[in-house]
Amino acid sequence: MTTPIVLTLNAGSSSLKFGVYDISEAPSQLAVGLVERIGGQPQLKADLGGLDGKVRQELAPEEARDHKSALGTALALLRKRFPHLHAAAVGHRVVHGGPKYTLPVHVTPQVLDELRAFSPFAPIHQPHNISGIEAALEAFPDALQVACFDTAFHRHQPKVNDEFALPREYYDKGVRRYGFHGLSYEYVAGELKRFAPLLYEGRVVIAHLGNGASMCGMLGGRSVASTMGFTALDGLPMGTRTGQIDPGVIFYMVQQEGKTIDEVRDLFYTQSGLLGISGLSNDMRTLEAAGTPEAKEAIDYFVFRARRELGGLAAALGGLDALVFCGGIGENSRYIRQRICEGLDWIGIELDRERNEGNERRINGSFSRTHVLVVPTNEELVIARAAKALLAEETQA
Ligand code: ADP
Repeated sequence: MTTPIVLTLNAGSSSLKFGVYDISEAPSQLAVGLVERIGGQPQLKADLGGLDGKVRQELAPEEARDHKSALGTALALLRKRFPHLHAAAVGHRVVHGGPKYTLPVHVTPQVLDELRAFSPFAPIHQPHNISGIEAALEAFPDALQVACFDTAFHRHQPKVNDEFALPREYYDKGVRRYGFHGLSYEYVAGELKRFAPLLYEGRVVIAHLGNGASMCGMLGGRSVASTMGFTALDGLPMGTRTGQIDPGVIFYMVQQEGKTIDEVRDLFYTQSGLLGISGLSNDMRTLEAAGTPEAKEAIDYFVFRARRELGGLAAALGGLDALVFCGGIGENSRYIRQRICEGLDWIGIELDRERNEGNERRINGSFSRTHVLVVPTNEELVIARAAKALLAEETQA
C-alpha cells in the first residue's frame, strides 16, 4: 500500500514553497522546499529528509519560468526521492477568502472563480495563489485541491473590528478589515491550547514578526482584533511595506509628486518599511548587524510601532495574560524581543534576559504577571491538517 500524501503549496509573487506530508496518522513532514526568484535567475532549496536530504541548486531560467514550471521542477526533484509520490490532496495557502470563507474549502471550478473574484482585494498575492492552484490542478488532476485562507481565522471578529467608518454600501461590497497571517495564528493558538490551556482561554496577543508582520488579539482562542486590515499593508511596518500610514499620503503622492496609483502601490509594498527607512535592507538580521544610524532608526520605528499596537490590542482585550512571539524575527531575534518588552511592567511584562538570550519557550521572569512566550509557527502543518480533514470528510460523503 502506498503512503497517503498531502502536498502543501504556498505560492508567493516570485517563490513557491512546498511541503510533503505523510497523513497516515497525524500529518508528519517528509520534505519541504522552496523555489525562489521564479521568472528571474531561479534557485531551488529543499530538505528531503535524512542525512543527505539537503538540496541547494541554481536552476536554468526555463526550469522556473512561472509557477507551473517551478512546480514541475519541484515535483521532478521530489519524485527522485519518493518514486511513488501520489498526492491524495494538495493544500494551498490562499491569502484571501473574502467575506465568505471562514474555513478551508475544496476548490471546485466554481470556488476557483470566486477566489479569482477576490483578486482585487489582494492584487499582489491572490493571483499567484491562483497560479499555484492551476498548476497543481494540472499536475494532480485526481487530487483533492484544498484552499486554506489567511483571512479565515479573523472572520468572526466583532463588527467594530470588522468595519471601516465608510458609507455602509462599501461594507456590503466587501471593504472590511480582514486581517491576515491566520494560518500562523491558528497554529500558535493550537500550540497554546496544547501546552497552556488556561492561557489559551485568556487574553493573548500573538506577534507574528517576519518579513510580513502583524499582531492578533485573541480571547478564548478566537481573534477579536488584528493590526492588518483590508490588505496586508496595514499595521506594523514590514520588510518592504509601510504598515499603518495616513491615507492622505496617497493623495499627496498622486497630486503633488505626480505618481500613478500603480507607482504608489509599488512604493508602499516594495520600497518602504525597514528597507525604506534604513535605505539598506528589508532584512532584520542585516539591520541589526549594520549598526548605521539609518538602520537603528528603522529598528526603532519597528519596535515603537509594535509596542504601540500591543498597547492598543491589550486595550481591546481588556488586559493581557500572554504575549507570544513567532515568525522569523519573533522566533530568532533576542534583541527585538527585548526592545519590544522594555519598560512594559505597566502591562505586567517583565522579561527574563537569560531565558530570552537562550531562545527559550518561556522568556518572562518569575515575577512577571504576564506570560511572554516564543512559539515557532508552522503554517504548512495547518494546511496539511486541513487537507487531511477535508479528505476524510469527502471520502465519507
Ligand atoms: P516571511 O514573512 O517571508 O515568511 P520570515 O518569517 O522567514 O519571513 O522572517 C524573515 C525575517 O526574520 C527577516 O527579516 C530575517 O532577517 C529575520 N530573522 C531571521 N533570523 C533572525 C535572527 N537570528 N535575528 C534577527 N532577525 C532574524
